[in-house]
Amino acid sequence: MYHLPVLKNRRTLLERAEKFISDIYFTDCNLRGRLYGDSCPLESLACFLTPKRITFAEASKQIFDPCKVGDTFGPTWWTCWFKVTLKIPESWRGKAVHLLWESDGEAMVWRDEQPVQGLTKEGEKTSYILSECLQDEELHSLTLYVEMACNGLFGAGQGSQIAPPDPNRKFSVQKAELVVFNGDVRELLTDFEMLVDIVKVLSTKNSQRGYQALFTVNEMVNLCDPSDPSSFAKVHSLAGTFFNQRNGESQHTVHAMGHCHIDSAWLWPYEETIRKCGRSWVTVIRLMEKNPEFVFTCSQAQQFQWVKSWYPGLFSSIQHYVKKGQFIPVGGTWVEMDGNLPSGESMVRQFLEGQRFFNKEFGRYCKEFWLPDTFGYSAQLPQIMQGCGISNFLTQKLSWNLVNTFPHNTFFWEGLDGSTVLTHFPPGNSYEMKGKVEDLVKTLKNNKDKGRANHSAALFGFGDGGGGPTQLMLDRLRLVQDTNGLPKVQMSTPDELFTRLQADSALLCTWTGELFLELHNGTYTTQAQIKRGNRQCETLLHDIEIASSLALYRNNTFPYPAEKLQELWRLLLLNQFHDVIPGSCIEMVVEDALKYYEGEFLQASSIGVSPVKDTPPVTPVSVTVQVFNCVKLEGTLASLCLISANRESISDGCLGNQFVMFDDVPLYWDAWDVMDYHLQTRKPVAEVVQPVHVVSPGGLRGSVSFTLRISDKSTITQEIIMDAMCPYIKFSTEVQWAESHKFLKVEFPVRVRSPNATYEIQFGHLQRPTHRNTSWDWAKFEVWGHKWADLSEHNFGVSLLNDCKYGYSVHKNTMTLSLLRAPKAPDATADMGIHHFTYAIMPHTRSFQEASVIQCAYNLNFPLRLIQCSPNTVPWSAFSVTSQAVVLETIKQAEDRGGVLVVRLYESHGSSVTATLRTALPVREAWVCDLLEKQDPNHPVPVTSEGITLDFNPFQIVSLLLIM
Ligand SMILES: [Zn+2]
Repeated sequence: MYHLPVLKNRRTLLERAEKFISDIYFTDCNLRGRLYGDSCPLESLACFLTPKRITFAEASKQIFDPCKVGDTFGPTWWTCWFKVTLKIPESWRGKAVHLLWESDGEAMVWRDEQPVQGLTKEGEKTSYILSECLQDEELHSLTLYVEMACNGLFGAGQGSQIAPPDPNRKFSVQKAELVVFNGDVRELLTDFEMLVDIVKVLSTKNSQRGYQALFTVNEMVNLCDPSDPSSFAKVHSLAGTFFNQRNGESQHTVHAMGHCHIDSAWLWPYEETIRKCGRSWVTVIRLMEKNPEFVFTCSQAQQFQWVKSWYPGLFSSIQHYVKKGQFIPVGGTWVEMDGNLPSGESMVRQFLEGQRFFNKEFGRYCKEFWLPDTFGYSAQLPQIMQGCGISNFLTQKLSWNLVNTFPHNTFFWEGLDGSTVLTHFPPGNSYEMKGKVEDLVKTLKNNKDKGRANHSAALFGFGDGGGGPTQLMLDRLRLVQDTNGLPKVQMSTPDELFTRLQADSALLCTWTGELFLELHNGTYTTQAQIKRGNRQCETLLHDIEIASSLALYRNNTFPYPAEKLQELWRLLLLNQFHDVIPGSCIEMVVEDALKYYEGEFLQASSIGVSPVKDTPPVTPVSVTVQVFNCVKLEGTLASLCLISANRESISDGCLGNQFVMFDDVPLYWDAWDVMDYHLQTRKPVAEVVQPVHVVSPGGLRGSVSFTLRISDKSTITQEIIMDAMCPYIKFSTEVQWAESHKFLKVEFPVRVRSPNATYEIQFGHLQRPTHRNTSWDWAKFEVWGHKWADLSEHNFGVSLLNDCKYGYSVHKNTMTLSLLRAPKAPDATADMGIHHFTYAIMPHTRSFQEASVIQCAYNLNFPLRLIQCSPNTVPWSAFSVTSQAVVLETIKQAEDRGGVLVVRLYESHGSSVTATLRTALPVREAWVCDLLEKQDPNHPVPVTSEGITLDFNPFQIVSLLLIM
């Protein structure tokens, strides 16, 4: 049946088929050239330009001026609204009619006051379907509006993608016309394209199947006459014969799920993200109308909330398709947050706000945590997920590791406390596949759990800047559902995938501890003001919730500010998005983020009251210059002696509090990455501008101050503070920073030897090596921690505390805190200006647990707040805990349950303990609840005159409902 002779020349046959569907070559006579039939210009095109993102109602009232295809509009971030009038020719009866719209600005079509179609050239969406098959009774004349943003899918970077946006860019409409769309040509093009790809992807490895595809596609070219549609049927049928040759039973199954990764802010501001969601999701709804099997997974409650308030009609459609099981909310969190920097309580709130939103709007909680694009994952996440009703996790980001290849795709991830979650990294290493042959083959080949897990996810759809799936992607996947040589493909849901993986999990491996991303380690430091805002607002919200909870019980008419607190929490959670708190966003986003933090400054009180009397300290401090040679004139520490133990802390011949500068030029991802080689460029900061002088000679506080020059543009002024009865020395620091691609750190070489250092993380701490034995060790040359890090040997150690920093490294005996970076992309002004921060050094005997390092780090971050009270105020304490190992982290009013408090405690030492929570509040009943505050009916806790006694495992988080 094939034409003879079939030549044995793979290259000419393959390229012949490629040229037959090329959109560049031979379009005068090839199949691609026939995709569109007749075209017809618009009746009229007029526009209205505005600097603001306005509603349709407002836009449609404006005066529109005539314009034409080819005109340019701008500048960047403005919006151009077009009024489009069109008339479909009578002669197109029975044809499919599209409005073809190509612009480099992302656009949305509005019809009858509703958004109906997103148009993004970079996302391969340039058609709005006016009719699938034009009938006489359909409207032939109509008016549409097109809202074009003056930004592309990835913002408006000048030159490279992550370059800062060009504020003066112009955007143009390159095509706006009516066309006849030939669906039969589209169908054949997809057949050809998939076969060509099979030839290319399979031929080298699997010649049998690849050559079968080659000869099939060659014969299809022989049979196909682009100018004669009657020839198409037998061509399509020949392709069908190939695609329908099936696999055996053992073949791997790919669970295809539509997806559209939309960064909540990144190379564009938050406000533009709202429109990105609208454009992307309305397109998804259009696809669902035509493809009832199409499944789309969608994360981030915040984005749903935005769409609900900006596009209520679209939101109702989404609710409809959620009910049908096609539009699937996933992830359970408010945003796809950074997985390292948010506090433990913030992470709980990400789930609390997210899950409650999904349940309220869609009647379901998410069963999987979804964080495909975040820069590392805390070892406490498994416990937090399980506490929020989630036992499955999906990401792929560890495929970006620069040094080591992560060994699993499907495995159990065990957290700090022993909680485990079933975890899947789609082996295709992407969250934005296109349904192509190479995506499927990559998924099959890369699977590192062959023989253990025979199911994988493939997420398809344009992402990062939104866009999402296309009809073409769906057509591709439909064609190869079960084609010998390719994995089986089924449209699926996360629930289906994880159920299959769980059912066959006997051979899966377990990974214990954090999922550390060996890349993007600069994100622990970049955009210091955002990080400071985060830490301060986490502290403030903590204090406000406690004060409000206690106020409730001191005065039952006090209105607990539940709504206001939710609003503030949501702003904080939003800023924890994985391109905001890491500092990898443009300047506009930084401005928005800092504005949101300012909204959070409210009046707050404390957990109890203790009147302050003017009493002298038991052990006063005193400071003198140079007498004991303790503090050298440039502010470094030559010696730091823990007098009670007669123990020197600083390593012999070294200096503590040594500022050091590094050249900081990464390979590409400027704001994200600090590379290992920067360590070879270390230069001490030693030039004194103002030598050490005494600020406060002693008593309650002794302090000295000095100023150093970093460069002709940057200086450090520091006050070194010793407070009476305080076991640490504080370094209150101001830096004038105007550098370019430099990294400022401070070092403490200490007299401690240990193979591991300890770092605080969410609700606990973990160890990382201080040596570089293996590639896994040295890939951790820059790591993250929260309020403290510690290096201890038996019976002595030194802790390094901070009030708003996250980047650390401890190599051998040198403890280093990362202070400031100066990347230039995507924000050219990142970190320029004045910075304030405080860190502290705390030598101690015994272990850091016994030395109360954890409590000291809380004290540094949660200063006592002074309030005016009358002189006869009686001191009182609301809560106390009998074990030092247990931290009472959170006190808040229960969600939707006025008069009920939630208290959250965690075991912080890594020990099994029994602790009693004592309280002055009239607690009648106490119940254990999960992190979503769901009462465990089987788990009441006795309340006795002693208090509430609880057992803790290492790093266990316990939440209680207290009913008064
Ligand atoms: Zn992202």
